[in-house]
Amino acid sequence: MIEQPYVYRHAELAEPDWRRLPGWAAVTEQEWASAQWQRSHCVKNIRQLRTVLGDGVDEVFYADLERDQAERATMSMLVPPQMINTIVPRLAPSDPGFTEALYADPVRRYMIPVFSDRRTDWPSHLHASRDSLHEAEMWAVEGLTHRYPTKVLAEVLPTCPQYCGHCTRMDLVGNPTPVVEKHKFTLARDDRLGAMVAYLKASPGVRDVVVSGGDVANLPWPRLEAFVADLLDIDSIRDIRLATKALMGLPQFWLTDEVRAGMERLAATARQRDVSIAIHTHVNAAQSVTPLVAKASKAMLETGIRDVRNQGVLLRGVNNSADQLLDLCFALLDDAKIMPYYFYMCDMIPNAEHWRLGLGEAQQLQHQIMGYLPGFATPRMLCDVPYVGKRWVHQASRYDTERGISYWTKNYRTAVEADDEHALDREYEYYDPIYLLPESGRDWWRAKAAELAVADRAAVRAEPIAAPA
Ligand code: SF4
Repeated sequence: MIEQPYVYRHAELAEPDWRRLPGWAAVTEQEWASAQWQRSHCVKNIRQLRTVLGDGVDEVFYADLERDQAERATMSMLVPPQMINTIVPRLAPSDPGFTEALYADPVRRYMIPVFSDRRTDWPSHLHASRDSLHEAEMWAVEGLTHRYPTKVLAEVLPTCPQYCGHCTRMDLVGNPTPVVEKHKFTLARDDRLGAMVAYLKASPGVRDVVVSGGDVANLPWPRLEAFVADLLDIDSIRDIRLATKALMGLPQFWLTDEVRAGMERLAATARQRDVSIAIHTHVNAAQSVTPLVAKASKAMLETGIRDVRNQGVLLRGVNNSADQLLDLCFALLDDAKIMPYYFYMCDMIPNAEHWRLGLGEAQQLQHQIMGYLPGFATPRMLCDVPYVGKRWVHQASRYDTERGISYWTKNYRTAVEADDEHALDREYEYYDPIYLLPESGRDWWRAKAAELAVADRAAVRAEPIAAPA
């Protein structure tokens, strides 16, 4: 037997027993399976979390959470029961060690962040910003980002059934928090969706539409089906991807009769017209892949769509080891039939430094996971470089590891560079977390911060971040 860095073992998926949580001790299987019950029992605040977890959690945790919500959180709390149930799946709150396990839990770390999770030296990078990918600058019409030559991102709504602490669209998605006002769409929903369809009809160079938000699971099904049907009517569109973390966070929605029947209709039309429809979900930890998630994924594949794929986010404390990533990929692939596709580096939004990895770490993880999964299911680690787009982590043209600055080039123009003759020669920068750098690199950034008169980033970021005018 050759010793390997990672040992594959097929792990049976398991649905944790929600009855171990005092607030849901009497919840029946029928209630649990209901999308309506799940939505109406989402945990939205600390009071509701206390009711679910009972008295077993140390008060220190709740104080830590309260401080985070007041001073750091860029997303409000919204966690469906399905996701809460996967946090510390093998302990009841009354068991010894539950609070410690809660602090250490990967799903808790990104869905219910607490103040002590975050960096106090550099909670935000100097170059962190809301809408860090500048998507709104590239809106062809409101909510439709045209960043790549042949594909667009349609942000069809600004809400989700669950809010992730690290959400890259913290600018737009979710409710305001004490530190972040949210940007608001100005057009009414149907006007916005109509304008997107009109733009796409007039843009035959676009063949691929990512229908996202937010999360498409929050659009009333008849409206979502009508929008996708409109896309299927446009001859130039060949790929449609529906973005929904809810396939994992609220699989009950994707298992409803209404949604399954509607997806069957869309898949049948897509097949007739040689268009591929896929679902893209967002799973970051193996424990989130339960039998219900697998059932929802397989139900979607049975409707006749092309694929269900996962786009996770690399997050420290959640999945920043090769073992965690490979466990997740095999859980997705073996029993849920979800294709591991991408892992993005966490974007440079405010208060995210504790989650973000350096480029070198992401490169190392890519190296470590090679060769274990089938090639077609080996996910690529990606850096979404502002004004450039997605790049494999090994594509940096240069990498200054002392200052944590990587340099990237691009091979197409976005609308904002239409008249920029240097767009394809220029190098674009991406930044590693400053606390990871050698002392000389940290000194350089300290001097830079002083230069910009923003030495105390923590104080700056604790103030409300206003929505753009
Ligand atoms: S599901 Fe996606 S869009 Fe919604 S909060 Fe999470 S990361 Fe953001």
